[in-house]
Amino acid sequence: MECTFCGEELDIEEEECPQYDNEGDVICDNCYRENFLFTCVYCQDYGLLENRGDIGSLFASTSEEDTDLQNGIYEIIDHPFYISDMFSMRILEDSVKLISTDISKIHTRGYPIGFLCEECSQKIKESANELQCKKSR
Ligand SMILES: [Zn+2]
Ligand SMILES: [Zn+2]
Repeated sequence: MECTFCGEELDIEEEECPQYDNEGDVICDNCYRENFLFTCVYCQDYGLLENRGDIGSLFASTSEEDTDLQNGIYEIIDHPFYISDMFSMRILEDSVKLISTDISKIHTRGYPIGFLCEECSQKIKESANELQCKKSR
């Protein structure tokens, strides 16, 4: 069996449970990771690219100069949440909500922003809600 993306022969493990692209064609693990997954900046695990940047999901901003945003973890509450050209990207403040200013666990690898996977988005939103409840009591 060959990967329909790069043409490489699949190895035995990949052939046993191959990944598929959106058309149902077989692709190798490498191409699957590159085309359908991204690395979560929080847990460093893979998240699905198609859910990245969805409303309700989180991203982290770690470079105030590049994004005009205070460093922190933000929830996307409206689309579009950024405008960009070839050279820069600006986050639209009305489309995002600051969830946490703690970016000690975030690793954006030099990029001004990085996305969190669905699981981490969920977890962090829940703990942020708990904090809010405690504060208002
Ligand atoms: Zn491939
Ligand atoms: Zn994650």
